[in-house]
Amino acid sequence: GATIGILGGGQLGRMLSVAAARLGFRTHIFEPGANPPAADVAHAVTTAGYDDHKALEAFARACDIVTFEFENIPTEALDVVEAITPIRPGREALRISQDRLTEKTFLGDLGLKVAPFADVTDAATLKAAVAQIGTPAILKTRRFGYDGKGQARLKDDADLDAAWAEMNGAPSVLEGFVNFSAEISVIAARSATGEVACFDPGENVHRDGILHTTTVPAKISNAQRTDAVLLAGRVLNALDYVGVMGVELFVTPQGLIVNEIAPRVHNSGHWTQNGCAIDQFEQHIRAVAGWPLGDGQRHADVVMTNLIGDDMARVPELARARDTALHLYGKAEVKPGRKMGHVNQIIRD
Ligand code: ATP
Ligand code: MG
Ligand code: MG
Repeated sequence: GATIGILGGGQLGRMLSVAAARLGFRTHIFEPGANPPAADVAHAVTTAGYDDHKALEAFARACDIVTFEFENIPTEALDVVEAITPIRPGREALRISQDRLTEKTFLGDLGLKVAPFADVTDAATLKAAVAQIGTPAILKTRRFGYDGKGQARLKDDADLDAAWAEMNGAPSVLEGFVNFSAEISVIAARSATGEVACFDPGENVHRDGILHTTTVPAKISNAQRTDAVLLAGRVLNALDYVGVMGVELFVTPQGLIVNEIAPRVHNSGHWTQNGCAIDQFEQHIRAVAGWPLGDGQRHADVVMTNLIGDDMARVPELARARDTALHLYGKAEVKPGRKMGHVNQIIRD
C-alpha cells in the first residue's frame, strides 16, 4: 500500500496511523521528540528536528503524500517536504491558522463573526486596544498557543503592564470576551474532489484552559446546527481544503462566533471513534489519500472525557464500566496537564 507521512508523532498522529493501517496504508512519522506516542503503531519513524533538511528530504521521498497532526511546523521545513511530496491539507490553511491575527482577519473577511480583536505589539498598543475593545478581554500570543497557554484574562481593573509582561514580548492579539451560552465545535472534512461532510457538532467544556468533555448531541437548535455546519463548509471551501478541520465556535444570542480553526483532526472530534461508523481519523486519511469521504453519521449519543495527568488513576475502574471505550496514548510519563488518553461513554436513554 501507499505510505502516508505524518509530521508530528503525538496522540493525533498515533490515532491517524491506526486508521491508516485499517485501510491498508503505511504511515511514516516525522517527530523531533524521543519516544512519540505514534511510534508504537507506525510503520516507520524519523526522529529529527524540523531544521534537519536532509532528514526531511529522506522522509518526503519515503512518502506518497504528507499530512500533519500539529500546525506549528516551520515554513522552511514544509518547503523542503513540498518540493518532493505533496502536502495535504495545503499550505494556506496552515499559514492562516498559525497566527491568530491572520486567522481572525481571514474569518472576518469571509463574512463570519469573530470576537472584536486588535493587534498588540507593546504596552502602548495594548492600552489603545483596551480603549477600543473594552474589558473584560483576553490577551493571547499570536502564535504557538494551545490548551490556553500564552493567554492572560483582563478584568476592568486590569494591570495592563503586568498582562503585557505575561506575553514575554511576543506579538499578541487582544480579544473582547465573548459571553457565550455554550462552546461547540464542528469537525468538518473535505475531499480532494470538493465533497464536504461534517460530523454532528459537539458541545465542549474546558477546565483550566484544557478541553475536559465533548458531548454529542450539543444542546443547540436545528437552526444553529445547520448554521454551524454551513459556516464550517464555507471555511473549507474558501481554503480549497483537503482533510479534516476542527472549527471552534461560541454560541451567543447574536449567533455563532468563530473562536479558532485547527487544520487537523481535533480533540473535540474523538467521540466519533465510538459514535460513528467512520471516525475523524479515517475521514482525514480518506481525504488526504484521495478517497471518497466515508459515512460519518452519528449513531449514538456520546460523552468524551479527556484523561489528563492523574486522571489515569481512573483507568482500572473505567476498564470495568459499561458502554465505555478507553483510548490510551501509551505515554510513559504522567505529568500534570498532559493528555494521557480519553474515554468515550455511550449514553443510552
Ligand atoms: P486549544 O487547545 O483549543 O488550541 P488555545 O490555547 O488555542 O486552545 P483558545 O481556544 O483561544 O485557546 O481559548 C481557550 C478557551 O478559552 C476557549 O475554548 C474558551 O473557553 C476561552 N476563550 C478563548 N477566547 C475567548 C473569548 N474571546 N471570549 C470568551 N472565552 C474565550
Ligand atoms: Mg488553539
Ligand atoms: Mg481552542
